[in-house]
Order: sequence, then C-alpha cells, then structure tokens
Amino acid sequence: MSTQAITSLDEAHLRFKAQLFQHKLLLDSGVQGIVGRAAPLVELVASLQGMIDRESKKDGAVKACFPPVVPRELLRKVGYMDNFPNLCGSIQSFVGDDKAQLALAETVKKGGDWAPHLASTDFTLTPASCYPLYPTLAGTLPEGGVLYDLNCYCFRHEPSNDPARLMSFEIRENVRAGTPTEVQKWRADWLERGLGIIEALGLPVFLDTASDPFFGRGGKMMKASQRELELKFELLVPIWSKDSPTAVASFNYHQDHFAHVFGIYTADGGGAHTACLGFGIDRLVIALLKTHGFDMKTWPASVRQTLML
Ligand code: ZN
Repeated sequence: MSTQAITSLDEAHLRFKAQLFQHKLLLDSGVQGIVGRAAPLVELVASLQGMIDRESKKDGAVKACFPPVVPRELLRKVGYMDNFPNLCGSIQSFVGDDKAQLALAETVKKGGDWAPHLASTDFTLTPASCYPLYPTLAGTLPEGGVLYDLNCYCFRHEPSNDPARLMSFEIRENVRAGTPTEVQKWRADWLERGLGIIEALGLPVFLDTASDPFFGRGGKMMKASQRELELKFELLVPIWSKDSPTAVASFNYHQDHFAHVFGIYTADGGGAHTACLGFGIDRLVIALLKTHGFDMKTWPASVRQTLML
C-alpha cells in the first residue's frame, strides 16, 4: 500500500470516528483505541449478542464468564510473550511504603513517568476471550468433547485511529474441545454459519485464510505456516476499502497446542484438539454503522429483523 493510500485511510478513520462522536454513538475517552458506547450502541450490542446467543444455543454451547484479567502465568504457558509481546497489557501496582508513595505522588504531580515507582502484579489484561478457559479443561473431556460460549472485554496494545481497531474491545467466542474430527467438523460448519450471520446483517463479507500478527522476524515463519495449514480463517468486510478489509470474525484451529500445554485429553485417552471462533462485536458495530448509516431506524427491514431491533 502506498504512503498516500495509508494517509487517506487514516483520514477516513479520523473522519468517521469524529462523526460517531458527533452523533453521540461513541463516547470519547481522549486516547486512541479506548471509547465508550452511548445508549443506541449499548442496545445494538445487546441485539448482536442476542443474535449470536440464538445461533450458539443450537449447538448447546455452555456459557462461562471470565473477568478481563488473566494470571500472568497463563500467558507464559501459552507463549504469548514469544508471539505477541507488543500487544500485551501487563498490570502494575504500587507496593511501596510511605516514603516511596511520596516520591510516586511527586512524580505524578509533575506529569512524570510513574512506571519506575510501580511493581508488576501477577496479572495481565485478557488478550483473547478463550484463553482463561483452557486451563479449566485440564484432565479428561467427556465423550463427544465440550463446547463453551464466552464473552469478554479483551486488550491489545495497538493504538490506532481506526474505530474498528480498538485497544479494549469485546470478543464473543465459542470454543470447541474434542477429537480432531469433532473439532474440525465444528469449525467447518461454523465457517458457513458465520458467513450466513454476517450476510443476514446486510454486510458485504467474504471468507479468507489469515494469520495472527506474530511478532518480529521469527513471526514471519509462524504466519506462513498458519496460512499454509489453514489454521485461521477470517470473515472480512471492506469497511474502509476493498484493499484493506477488516476482519469481523475469525475461526481458529489450534490443533493440540492448548491441550498439550494444559494436559487436556479426549475420552479415549488421546490428546484433545481445540478450536475457537470469535466475533469482534465492536467491529461489527462499526461495519453496520458504516454500511447502513447512523440512524438504526432507517436500516433495511431485513437487517432490523435479523437483529430484532
Ligand atoms: Zn479464541
């Protein structure tokens, strides 16, 4: 992509974001990538979640809920710092005495960097809704495996003007664990169903193989192998342009990666496989607003019906 193309894309992001604030749909926090939702979007998100609820229930997915923080140990075990160190949101806190607190307060008052006064905690912000589930599956799965339905605010440190690329955002996930055949069949079915859901929202969508944003030189090989093995698919909507479409959903096959790390076995004693699918709730919201306009009352009747608006 040329520099000019990047600039005009950035301008499109800024312009649309400003309109979202003007129409009082998003609430500005003052920093890139962190926004609030105003009443119409709170309702829209509830409708989107309801739509995914109805689809997930068809498979009997079991709900679970985790907070937006995970133990730091979890990220160590899954190799997060090897692959995505730049996206991590590590949590620090103050653990000093009175004297140290005075120095901290002084630094803060002067507008200085308070990081040297803080210490790492044992927690980080959750990078993906499915991560906290895997350790809880350790042991032997029941016959037929398991299927979970999760929703969580996730954090990835990638400041951007793109309102469809927030740093703190909601990912609705379904996670399947079982034999390789069970897991692969589930993911293949969902590729079709996912496409149908996005099409029913009146969005121009297409499916493509994808790779995660693995860090650095070593990451290049990881990306290539992930694409070659077709471990990740994304549903893409050209929110801004056809050249740089936005992923609104992803379908990830981890093979036995998480099962190996956490000791998850199938009923027949084999190593379990896992897969997850995730809908980027905030990205779907932006795609809908960009495609159908700011006033939901004027959206196509079929879309309003799908969302039960
Ligand atoms: Zn996941």
